[in-house]
Amino acid sequence: MLPRPKKRLGQHFLTDRHYLDRIIAEIAPAPGEAMLEIGPGPGALTERLAKFVRPLHVVEIDRDLAAALRGRFEPECVVVHEADALDFDFAGLPTGLRVVGNLPYNVSTPLLFHVAAFASRIRDCVFMLQREVVERMAAAPGTPDFGRLTVMLQYRFAISLAFRVPPGAFTPPPKVDSAVVRMQPLGEDRLVARDEALFARIVMAAFTQRRKTLRNALRALAGEAVFARAGVDPGLRGEVLSVAQFVALADAAAAS
Ligand code: SAM
Repeated sequence: MLPRPKKRLGQHFLTDRHYLDRIIAEIAPAPGEAMLEIGPGPGALTERLAKFVRPLHVVEIDRDLAAALRGRFEPECVVVHEADALDFDFAGLPTGLRVVGNLPYNVSTPLLFHVAAFASRIRDCVFMLQREVVERMAAAPGTPDFGRLTVMLQYRFAISLAFRVPPGAFTPPPKVDSAVVRMQPLGEDRLVARDEALFARIVMAAFTQRRKTLRNALRALAGEAVFARAGVDPGLRGEVLSVAQFVALADAAAAS
C-alpha cells in the first residue's frame, strides 16, 4: 500500500507500470554502474534499479520513507541516505555517477543547479520533471522558454526531452504534465568561462530584466568595449544569445 503523500515534499508517486518500464528502459541500468536515485519515495523505481545496480545509492528526505526503504532492502543492495538532496555531497560517491529520479517538482530548479555543480563527476542524468521545466532546460535561443535555467544547464550538459508523461501516471496526479529529460555532461572540449562566477552574474542579469536590451540589463557588468570585444550586439536581448555568446561576453568582461 502507498504511504499517505506529503504535499510539502512534492510527493507524487509514479504508479503506472507502463511509464515505470519506460523510464527504466530510458535509464538502461547495468551491473557495475555507480548510481544515485534522488527521491526514491516508496521505491517503485528503486526496486527495478536495484535488480541491476549494487549498491544503489538513494537520497530521501522523508524520515518515514527512508526507514521503510531500509527495512525493505539489504544495505548491500540499497544504501539509503536520509538527507536533503539540495545539500547532498555527491563527491562522497564514485565518479562516473549516474543520477536518476522522479524529482520533487517544488525544488526542481535549485536541485538542478546543485546537480550541475557536480557535473564533472557525473556520467549522465535521467530525471522526471514538470514538462514546462524540461522545455525550458532544452530550449533553443530565440524561443520564449530560453532563459537562465537553459543557459546555466546547457553550459554544462547536452539536454534532451525523452518522453512526456501524463498526470494520471502518478498517485496523486500532479496538476501539471511531466516529462523525462536526459542530461549528458559536455566533453572536455566544451567552452569554459574564464570566470564562472562572472558568467553566472551576467546570465542572471540578462534574464532578470529579460525585456531590456543587453546594454541596459548588463549596464553594471559590461560596457560598450566589452560588447565590441565579444562581438555581441548590445541592442539584442539575452533571450536570443547562444550559450557560446554568453561565454564570450563573460570572457570579455573578465578581461576588461
Ligand atoms: N521516486 C518516487 C516515485 O517515483 O514514486 C517518488 C517521487 S516523488 C515525486 C519525490 C520524492 O522526493 C518524494 O519521495 C519526496 O519525499 C522526496 N523529496 C522531496 N524533497 C526532497 C529533498 N529535498 N531531498 C531528497 N528527497 C526529497
